[in-house]
This record gives sequence, C-alpha cells and structure tokens, in this order.
Amino acid sequence: MSNPLPAASIILEDRYSPGSIYLVQRAKALKFLGGFHAFPGGKVDPPDAEIAQSQNLWDIAVVAAIRELFEETGVLLCRDSSNNSIKSSPQLAQIRCDLLEKRSDFASIIRDNNWVLSASDLYPIGYFTTPLFSPMRFETRFFLAKIPSGQTPEVFENELENGVWGTPAEHLKKWYADDILISPPVLALLEKLNKSPASDWRLSSDKGLITQDEFVLDRVRFASWIQVVSVACPGPSLPQIGNVFLVGLSKFYLIDPGALDDLGVLAIQKAIQSRVNEGDSFYGILLTHHHPDHTNSANHFADLWDVPVLAHLATAEKLLNKIQVSQHLDDCDQIPLGFNPFTGSNLVLTAYHTPGHAPGHLVFFEAKTKTLFAGDLVSTSTTVLVSPPDGHLATYIHSINRMADFNPELLMPFHGCPSANGKGVLQTAVFHREKREAALLLALANNCHSLEALANEVYRGLPDPLMKLAQKQIHAGLIKLSEEGIVIASLNDANEWKLAQ
Ligand SMILES: [Zn+2]
Repeated sequence: MSNPLPAASIILEDRYSPGSIYLVQRAKALKFLGGFHAFPGGKVDPPDAEIAQSQNLWDIAVVAAIRELFEETGVLLCRDSSNNSIKSSPQLAQIRCDLLEKRSDFASIIRDNNWVLSASDLYPIGYFTTPLFSPMRFETRFFLAKIPSGQTPEVFENELENGVWGTPAEHLKKWYADDILISPPVLALLEKLNKSPASDWRLSSDKGLITQDEFVLDRVRFASWIQVVSVACPGPSLPQIGNVFLVGLSKFYLIDPGALDDLGVLAIQKAIQSRVNEGDSFYGILLTHHHPDHTNSANHFADLWDVPVLAHLATAEKLLNKIQVSQHLDDCDQIPLGFNPFTGSNLVLTAYHTPGHAPGHLVFFEAKTKTLFAGDLVSTSTTVLVSPPDGHLATYIHSINRMADFNPELLMPFHGCPSANGKGVLQTAVFHREKREAALLLALANNCHSLEALANEVYRGLPDPLMKLAQKQIHAGLIKLSEEGIVIASLNDANEWKLAQ
C-alpha cells in the first residue's frame, strides 16, 4: 500500500456565467481513472514548494493547482507587474507549449515574465485522499477559482480527451443518465455545489464551501448504481485490498464479499444498512469464484440478511461445507437489477462463465452501459495468478478474449482501480501473457529446464515469496505449450521440461 502523493485541483468557474464550472475528461489510456471526468489538476512537483517559498501543504498546493491548470487548459491565474490579469494570446499559448514540452519550467516562466501568482483568488475548499483500492493514491487539495477575463480554456489531446462547461446540475444529470463517468470525489463536490446557489459558494459559513477539512465520502460510487467498499482481504502471501461492489438501485446485490477482518465486515455492513435504511432492498450475494478473498465473509452476510448466495456450480463444489451456495448461475444467466429511474430502462446483469483463473469463474456484464464486473479475470494492480490444476492458461486467455469481444467500457476489477478503458485493459492482459510466453520459450532455448530455473530466468529479480507464485505461472505456461506440442515434459522427471524437436 503506497502513501498518498500530494496533488491539487481547481474548480474553475465561468466569470460571466456564475455557477458554470469546467470539467475535463481524463485520457482513456491513463492508469489512474482514465476516461473519467474530473476537475483540472495533478500531482505536486518538488519545484512547486520552491515557488511557494513555504512548507505549508496548502501554499504548495496553490502553486501546483495554478501550474496544472495552465498546463491542462492554458488558463493562467497570474497577474503582471501592473497587477492586471493575463489575457489569452499566441505568446501565452507558446509559453504553455514550451512548458508542456519541457523547454522551460514554471519557476523560470513566472520569474522571466515578472508575473505573480493570483494565490488569493483561489479558495481552498478541502482535501480528499484516494481510497485504498488504488495502487496509485493522492491527497488532493481542491480550490475554487474564477477564470480571468479574456481567457478561454483549451484542452490538448494527450492527457485529456476534452473539456466541458456546465452547472453542477447539468454535469450530474449526464452522470445519472450513465452518459459520463465522474471521479468519486469530484462527484461528491458537484453534489455539494449543487445544494447551494453559486453566490453562496464562497461564504465561509455552514452554507458555503470554504473549509480546509478532509472530505470523507459516505459512498464511493462509480455510477448511480455502482457503489464500492474497499476492504482488506486474504492474499496469497500478505493481505491485499479487494473491491466489494453493491450493484443496483432499489434492488441491489453484493458482489464478492471477501473481508478479512472486522473492520472490512463492518464497512460492508454499514454500506448495506444505509442503503436498506433508505428503502433499497438487498437481494443477494453474487460470487465470481471460490477464492477466499472473494468469499470470506459471504456466509456472514447471507445469514445476517437472510439472502441467497449465487455462484457457478463449479464454485459451489469448491465451497462445499464452507459456504452454502443457494442458487447456481450458468453462462448467460441474467440477474435483473430492476428499473433505473434515471435512464428509464431496466438494469440487467448477465453472468458469463470465464474459467481459467478458477474453474467456476464468472464475470457480470451490464450490456447497456458496457460495464464489466471482472472478478479476477483481470486486475489493474497486479497480474492474475493462473495456478494449475485449478488454473488453466489457454482457457484463461480464451475467457479474456471472449469478454474483450463484448467491447466493455467501464471495467470494475476486484483488485485495483476501476478503468473506463475496459477493452484496453483486457487486451493488455493478453499481450502481457504473450510476452511472458515468448520469454519462457527463450529460457527453454537457453537450457533452463526446471520450474525454478525457468522462473528465475523469466521473472528475474523477483523477491522470494513472489518467486513461488511465479513458478506456478510458469507451470501454467508450460502446460499450455505442451498441449500445443511445442514443449514436452520429461518422462523420468516431472520437473524437467524442454522444447519439442
Ligand atoms: Zn482469485
């Protein structure tokens, strides 16, 4: 688990149309919330502290926010030596390009032009720390600022897809209709802004927003009908973080409750209880497969709420005498989630049998929004373990390719951060396996023959506990190659493999 990196973000408000604020869409290929809408912003750079001439995190974040806003949108919150705000111009555009292409740095730009940062025009409204589910975590400080007169934001396709003005209500309407994805803290801020008129936003009272406190989200939502509770769950060597999903609106299911400790169980219980208190009905528990990190607390919630556990027959067999699976799900079975009043249509999950990681592995796909609850089909934080005899590599790759053909957009993995680039994540996973296979073939050609020697060669430098897992991946790779007639196992020694021919 990584320490959160300091970051800063600006809610840019239109000077002439109060209440209209600017959202940017992050590039789809970005690892962290690619494809999601957010406010312009980014990581604090070490030189930001020098420009701020302060160690105070808020002072440094002001510099980072101004710099990031300039880089991403071309809007510059600075004043010239006569205390006038800067106007958009070809010269300013050129300075931005020089900064983006690293021909100059922000400190020199400010100094050489005799500019002063308009720090007092930025209103600090709080900070937010990325939940544990993400391998990349940020502590982001948010500011409210009006765009200077004579400037227009312009987004370049690289880190961003596009930018759009709108009132909080307009942005939220698109989100509820599943037309856009919004990063969870930005969603919470839009809802907060939407509660009061723009004229009240800068009041430093209960009615306004101005505070320097941490926002704690009572719900982490990736769509109106997708809520995530990230918990610690058992891992192959150390505990890891898993995403437990509450899926649906008035009728909802829990996917993969695998909490390891009381803290996780409590977090899931709180999430269910608060939904039930609001009149939603908890319908049951869906399991993607039998591994403990996905099933650990399933009995607890099934008993407590008297709801069924649904899983594939092969998963039920693996869980025999441990978890009572009350209903079997087969390939293409549908799980109706009820009516979505925001889109006017029914939400339906379809289960797809996707073995390879585990024999009874299921994913759940919502076809209208092309949302894939991937279980352990792929992870965005690590490589999925394919360990024989339960794991079978050729079947696993077939399952990934099958789901890639559905062109999923939003992909919700059990491990790692959600991605709006679902198909890309699946294709990358297959590409990664192809690269490993090529490395394995090369190691065989270089006279490595045992699982240990092959793993040491293919996964060079991996620490010891992980090397044991690497040997399992190698074993899965060798079985695939032997089924294809490319590799043969020695008749005398089960741990001796060589190339055919
Ligand atoms: Zn698993």
